[in-house]
Amino acid sequence: MSNFFHTKIEFLKGVGPQRAELLQKELNIYTYGDLIQHYPFRYLDRTQFYKIAELDESMPYVQVQGRVKGKEVLGEGRKQRLAATLVDEDGSEMDLVWFKGVKWMQKSLKNHTDYIVFGKPTAFNGKFSMAHPELEELAEEKQTTAFLQPVYHTTEKLKAHRIESKVIARMMELLLKVAVPNIQETLSPELIDHYRLMSKRDALINIHFPQSVEKYNAAKFRLKFEELFYIQLRLLRQKTVRRADLAGQVFKQVPTVTEFYKNHMTFDLTNAQKRVIKEIHKDLTAGKQMNRLLQGDVGSGKTIVAFITMLIAADNGAQSVLMAPTEILADQHYTGLKEFADRLGINIGKLTGSTKTKDRKVLHEQLRSGEMKMIVGTHALLEDVVQFHNLGLCIVDEQHRFGVEQRSKLWRKNPCIIPHVLVMTATPIPRTLAMTLYGDLDVSVIDEMPAGRKEIVTVHRFDSHRLRVFQFVRDQIKLGRQVYIVYPLIEESEGMDYKDLMDGYESIRRAFPEYQVSMVHGKLKAQDKDYEMQRFVRNETQLMVATTVIEVGVNVPNASVMIIESAERFGLSQLHQLRGRVGRGAEQSYCILMTGYKLSKDSKTRLETMVRTNNGFEIADIDLKLRGPGDLMGTQQSGVLDLLIADLAKDAPILQEARAAAQRILQEDEQLEQPQNQNILRHIKSLSVNTINWSRIS
Ligand code: ADP
Ligand code: MG
Repeated sequence: MSNFFHTKIEFLKGVGPQRAELLQKELNIYTYGDLIQHYPFRYLDRTQFYKIAELDESMPYVQVQGRVKGKEVLGEGRKQRLAATLVDEDGSEMDLVWFKGVKWMQKSLKNHTDYIVFGKPTAFNGKFSMAHPELEELAEEKQTTAFLQPVYHTTEKLKAHRIESKVIARMMELLLKVAVPNIQETLSPELIDHYRLMSKRDALINIHFPQSVEKYNAAKFRLKFEELFYIQLRLLRQKTVRRADLAGQVFKQVPTVTEFYKNHMTFDLTNAQKRVIKEIHKDLTAGKQMNRLLQGDVGSGKTIVAFITMLIAADNGAQSVLMAPTEILADQHYTGLKEFADRLGINIGKLTGSTKTKDRKVLHEQLRSGEMKMIVGTHALLEDVVQFHNLGLCIVDEQHRFGVEQRSKLWRKNPCIIPHVLVMTATPIPRTLAMTLYGDLDVSVIDEMPAGRKEIVTVHRFDSHRLRVFQFVRDQIKLGRQVYIVYPLIEESEGMDYKDLMDGYESIRRAFPEYQVSMVHGKLKAQDKDYEMQRFVRNETQLMVATTVIEVGVNVPNASVMIIESAERFGLSQLHQLRGRVGRGAEQSYCILMTGYKLSKDSKTRLETMVRTNNGFEIADIDLKLRGPGDLMGTQQSGVLDLLIADLAKDAPILQEARAAAQRILQEDEQLEQPQNQNILRHIKSLSVNTINWSRIS
C-alpha cells in the first residue's frame, strides 16, 4: 500500500487530535490504513421494505416507508414524549415515539412528508409502534445509499464520546472518498482471474457500503481470500527459508536403536508409530534442522516415539531434552524413559523446580560435560545456568502450555547449530487450524491406537442417578480397577468450585468407606500432590478425586473409570483430554458424564459428541465450530489468529484454496520475481512496514 494509508488518522476530516487519540486507545486505529480495515461486524438489512400490515412483533429491525401525519408532545416533565403517526400507502397506521430529544425532534420532523423509517416494531393495544426510529426523508434518498448498512464495533468509552457506529460509518465514507484513488491491487491479475475475485478497490468499498448483497458477498470472499493467502504465503516462505538456511546435525548412526528394538521392546510398534519414526529419521539424516509437530490422540503412544528419537540423538553423540508442562508429567516421563535408558546403560536425568540445589549442581555439570545424554524436566530447563555440551534435540510435550518465546529459549542453548525440534501434542488440532498455526512446521500424525485397546464406553447420566453410578463404581473396584472423579475448577468461581470439590470428596469417602480415596488439586503443595498421585499410581488408593490437574498425560493403566462431575461446564476438548486418562490398559474402560437436567444447547451438543465418538480429530473439529478458534487452548498466544475478516471455523474451504494458491505461486516463482507477481511482492514489502494493523499478520 502506498504511503497514503500511513497517514495519521487525525488528519481525516472530522477526526482531529482528540478523536484520534480515542480511536488509537480504544480500537488501535492509528492510520487511514487501520481505519479502512476496521470492517463492519454486521449489517442492517435496508434492502427490504415492509407494509405496516405485515409487521409482527418477532421481527428485528425493519424498514417501512410512509407519510408522517400529525405529531404531538404528550405528557409532562420526565414523562414527556413526542408521538407521531405514520401512514403507509395502504392506509395502515403506526406510531413513532421519542422519549429523548423531544424538542429537537418536534422541530425537525416534518408533517405531511414521506419518510423511510427504520426500527424495531412493538405492538401495543393492537397497534404497532417504533421507539426512536431512524428517519430518512424520501426525497433526500440518494441512489448511492448502501442497501446493507454497516455496523461497526465500538467501545463504551467511544460511545460516551459520541463515537458510535454511525459516526464511524461517516468517517469511513469520508475516508473512502479520498482513499479510493489510492487503493492498489494487492493480488496478481492471474489470481484475480483464476478465482474470479473482486478488485481490492471494489472490495473495500463494498465491505463498508455494499451496493448489493451479491457485491457484498464478493467483497467478503475477496478479502477473506486475501487475508488467508498472505498468511499462508508467509508461513510457506518461512518454511522454505528454514529449509534452505538452517543446517541440522546429521544423525546417521543407530546401533543402540537397533539393540533396543531387538532386545528391549516389550510391544510391537503400531504401523502409525513406525511411519512417524521413519518420517523423523528421514529429517534427522537430511542435514537440515527438523521442525516437526507430532500429533497423536491421548494414549496413541507418543512417548515411545520420543524415546526412540532421543536414542537416535544419543547414538550420534548429541544430547536431548524432553520438556513437559508440569512436574507430575515430567516425573512420569522420566520414570518411563529411565526404565528403557537403564537397560541400555544411558545416563538420563530429571530437572524440575523441586530438584535440590545439590543435585542440580551435579546435573548442570554432567550436562555441560556431555556425560548426561538425556534430560527430562519442566521450565527449570530453560534457566540460563543449564548449559549443554552438544544439545541436538528438543522435544516439547503438550506444547500448548508453552509460549513460543519459551520454546525458542531452548533452541538457543546450542550456539553452534540449532537443535532438531519435535513438538508433541495430544490436542488434536484440526487440519485447517494446524495449517494456519503451524504452516511452518511439518506434521506427523499417529492416527492409530495400540492393538488390543478397547474403545472407551461413554455415557451421560443425570445427577439423580448418582446412586446407580456409585454402584457401578463399586462393582468396578471389586474387579480390581481404579476410578477418577473429576470436578470442574473455573477461575471465576474458584471458591465455590473448591467447596464442590471438598463436598464431593467427603461424600465419596462416606459412600466408599471400605476403600481409600486420594485427592489432588491445584492448591496442594507440589510434594503433597505428588504423594497423593503416587499413592494412586501404586494402587494404594482406589479412588482419585481431582480437578483438571490430572488432565494431561498422567498414565495409570489400571484406572478404568472416569467420572466427570458438572460435565456441562467443561469444553469439549477438555472432556476428551480427561477421558484419555482411562482406556490405557487392556480392560474395558468407561467415562461417565454427570450433569443436572438444565443444559444449554451447546452443552447438549458437547455431551452428545462425547457419547458418540472417541475420535479426537472429529471432536476438535466440532469444538472449533462451537467455540471459534480464538478459544482453543494456546492459540491466543500465536497471534496468527488475530484475523480481520476470515474465520477459521467457517472458512476452511477458502483457506484450502488460499494455501493451494500460495503453494503454486511459490513453486513457480520462489522469489516472486516474475512480472505477474509484482503486486504480491509489493504488498509483502508494505506489510513489513510497521504500522499496527497493516502488519497484523507479520
Ligand atoms: P500418549 O500418546 O498419550 O503420550 P503414551 O505414550 O503415554 O501415550 O502411551 C500410552 C500407553 O500405551 C503406555 O502405557 C505405552 O506404554 C503404551 N503403548 C505405546 N505404544 C504401544 C504399542 N505399540 N503397543 C502397545 N502399547 C503401547
Ligand atoms: Mg503423553
